[in-house]
Amino acid sequence: MKSNTGLYVHIPYCVKKCSYCDFVSFPVDKITKDSQQEYLKHLLRDLEYKKLNYFQYNINLKSIFFGGGTPSLFSPDFYYVFLQEVKAIFNLKTLSDIEISMEANPESLYEQAKKLNFSLKEYKQAGINRLSIGVQSLNEKLLKYLGRLYIHKNSLEKVFDNTAAAGFTNINVDLIYGIAGQTFQDIEQSLSYVLGKNITHLSFYELTVEKKTPLYKETINRKKPQASNKRALLHHNYFLPILEKAKFERYEVSNYCLSGFECRHNMIYWSYNSYIGIGLSAHSFNGKIRIKNADNIKKYEKELTEEISEAQYNPELFIGFFRLLRPVFFKEITEFLTIKEKSIFLKVLKTFQERLWLNLSDNNFSITKEGILFSDSMVFEMSEALSASTNKTRS
Ligand code: SF4
Repeated sequence: MKSNTGLYVHIPYCVKKCSYCDFVSFPVDKITKDSQQEYLKHLLRDLEYKKLNYFQYNINLKSIFFGGGTPSLFSPDFYYVFLQEVKAIFNLKTLSDIEISMEANPESLYEQAKKLNFSLKEYKQAGINRLSIGVQSLNEKLLKYLGRLYIHKNSLEKVFDNTAAAGFTNINVDLIYGIAGQTFQDIEQSLSYVLGKNITHLSFYELTVEKKTPLYKETINRKKPQASNKRALLHHNYFLPILEKAKFERYEVSNYCLSGFECRHNMIYWSYNSYIGIGLSAHSFNGKIRIKNADNIKKYEKELTEEISEAQYNPELFIGFFRLLRPVFFKEITEFLTIKEKSIFLKVLKTFQERLWLNLSDNNFSITKEGILFSDSMVFEMSEALSASTNKTRS
């Protein structure tokens, strides 16, 4: 049987490193045609290698996702050539039934297009059919707190006009809440603005200050304040009714969409399907084996693959399933567990039910509204319980 698979392509370059960012990305002054060509060469080599060594069976390519970094720093030509190669490598007649997303920053969609003299239509013509725009907030002060570039509202308006004129009808916007100094009015303004732009999907993330980021150091040294969890929860409870009114359904802890516009690519991750990841630091999973590419560009160009591990049961198994709002069938998870692990899994699920975090039925569970707030705790507790049993069995 063909397996639903996603292809992730990491583009590791940004204009500036945001202070909260822990993705593998590097600030660069300029992206030249040559540097794009060079990276393209490595990506294609990586793809051929992964396909030959780990994904030889018949895969059903459902999505391609260009993430980063800032993929919109690369020109439409780069995407056109890459996607034509993908078509040839997977022997596909057409790419039109594949969801092809590109992450973009408003500044690069505005500046880059002007500088390199192309229109956003050319991304569409190259094959991109879904844009994911990292707006994060409309408030200049909040963007400054995050160390992000800011563009004036008039330029942002042009970006949305251009995406509409280019014919993009499937658009995600990323917003962030739980930022120190963010008011309910800020949230309302950013949200109403983007909801008025014919978007189909919204990723509304709570700011997490990750260790090793400059923002973490700044908050620890009290150079910058940090919003409390209580404040973030108030933000969250404030915007939910606005989204409900706009008919945006929540289908994952931080993701909302109009009916039928769930992000196909992320559903592949959250439902533990297979994915091929190419580019710097990208992960791949073929249902059995997990592969991680090098984080270092020189090492990546030389060796491609850094780590390979057997999948077995892995905490990643639960990250998606305890975030999705749809019913999750036990068999989607238990096929990755031993008999002993299955019984522990069911026991722990019952304790979650007692805490009203999920509803259990004969063959599935679904997370409750209360449980959404405890998704990370469920992943942690389930993983701890299973790790303890695995360690005991092995010793
Ligand atoms: S633009 Fe995105 S990937 Fe680049 S530094 Fe900022 S948050 Fe990180």
